[in-house]
Amino acid sequence: MSSASVGAEAPGLAGTAEVRAYGQYVNGRWIEVPGEGEGIVRLAPGSGGRVIARFAAGTPDDVAEAVSAARRAFDTGPWPRLTGIERGRVLLRLAALLRERAERFARLEAEEVGKPIRLARGDVAATVDIIEYAAGLAMAAHGDVHTNLGEDYTAWTVREPVGVVGMITPWNFPLLQVAQKLPFALGAGCTTVIKPSELTSGSTLELARLTEAAGVPPGVVNVVTGYGRDAGRPLAGSRGVDLLSFTGSTATGRAVIAASGEHATRLSLELGGKAASVVFADADLDDAVDGVLFGVLFNQGECCVSGARLLIEESVADAFVDRLAERAARVRVGAPLDERTEVGPLISGDHVTKVLDYLTDEALDGARILTGGAVLSDAAHGGGDYLPPTVVDGVGPDSRLFREEIFGPVLTVTRFTGFEQAMDLANAVDYGLANTVWTKDVDKAMRAARRLRSGRVWINTTLDGSPQLPAGGMGASGYGRELGQAGFDEFTEVKSVQLRTGPRTPFFDASPAPRPGEE
Ligand code: NDP
Repeated sequence: MSSASVGAEAPGLAGTAEVRAYGQYVNGRWIEVPGEGEGIVRLAPGSGGRVIARFAAGTPDDVAEAVSAARRAFDTGPWPRLTGIERGRVLLRLAALLRERAERFARLEAEEVGKPIRLARGDVAATVDIIEYAAGLAMAAHGDVHTNLGEDYTAWTVREPVGVVGMITPWNFPLLQVAQKLPFALGAGCTTVIKPSELTSGSTLELARLTEAAGVPPGVVNVVTGYGRDAGRPLAGSRGVDLLSFTGSTATGRAVIAASGEHATRLSLELGGKAASVVFADADLDDAVDGVLFGVLFNQGECCVSGARLLIEESVADAFVDRLAERAARVRVGAPLDERTEVGPLISGDHVTKVLDYLTDEALDGARILTGGAVLSDAAHGGGDYLPPTVVDGVGPDSRLFREEIFGPVLTVTRFTGFEQAMDLANAVDYGLANTVWTKDVDKAMRAARRLRSGRVWINTTLDGSPQLPAGGMGASGYGRELGQAGFDEFTEVKSVQLRTGPRTPFFDASPAPRPGEE
């Protein structure tokens, strides 16, 4: 992370004008650190083109080398053979090291992603919590014994580490996304090869370095940076990978399914979303205004569980939407490292173009932009990439805006009458990652929690979470779970062992068989 080597400790580096150059981390060694003008160049979002990092552009050969290292570490290395307490202890050391460097990680994450520093600090604190929780699960993991199968039988089930885990992660929460996989995989005794997004690989590489300092042996954690086609695709199609844990868009998820099909590799897929915020007339509407805005603007709306669709009960709709739009227009949009910033720049110019494509007259198809809708161009936002909170009213359920993941600070508004219509609208998209309900009627809240087809439901809160609570999708949002006990179990295989004691009851007739002609 100095401009020459990833191995150097460089406190306070993130946030300075220095360019960080990172190599690949394979088998405990840092290789291929890109020199000036080499590798993948990362520009700080919203900076107008300031270079902040260079990452190595991994190749299929790099992936093959990393997978071999992980394979050897799993088949013959010490890590899977340690006790749960020993692995948990290493994870606790990792959490402590990260806590000591929390501000450095937060600044790095804010700079690479463009997220407000306040939120980046929250991401790092949540990551520490998750690692500590995973340490606890590693220590507590055990099998089950079956003692009621009959007098002569005893059987037990064990959870064994699944083996070599490939992990592919997106750019919106680089640290948190890898934290939802890596500590659980390590706790279970797996070895790993991680391919972070080429836009935001810094925190994953620095976390890998901390795993080394915490005592994870060489080859257990490997990071290959690079583009999806050169590094992600070969990892998904690798014969040496036992489980591929992917977080990203549904489109890329389909490509991963195809690539992993070659070797029937087990998959866990955390894909896109299009969550609804359902506001009933009986909600605390002050809370709901703040919550709906938080739900859609968190991380600039570049969030898989973003509450991108407001479903509002007709009787309170006009007043609620007016307040919401007025409040949205006052949100502070600014540079990621500015302490007052509430919404930062989008990840890249290309992504801004993609989001704006949903705000053309043709895409709007009669819907009305109440606030926002165009990139800011004043002196304070001269670096570009700043899209202010955008509220679009009158969006019908057949519209692209309603059905597709926009991944920006864009809230669509759709009105409903009655509980049934609200639930039908919420469930009317292909995705099923999360939904939020605002109501003070507990019966209604419980009914909604049952009716909503999504891996997570929030009631009178949103985008909340805890390491204990599993997260994952239904439908086009993928399958498999992260976090919680279920998130740990993803990285294990269940094996049942059956033991019989006492004499066997013969299956074959024990009397001598008659020879031909003797009958
Ligand atoms: P992408 O799907 O574009 O990329 C995700 C990762 O896959 C990146 O590392 C990418 O590399 C890699 N990749 C690209 N092509 C391939 C391929 N053919 N084979 C294997 N890997 C490949 O997602 P984004 O990075 O744009 O992230 C945004 C998406 O992630 C959104 O759809 C969002 O909803 C989803 N997401 C889901 C979450 C969940 O928990 N369900 C959480 C967070 C985000 P490269 O960067 O080089 O393209």
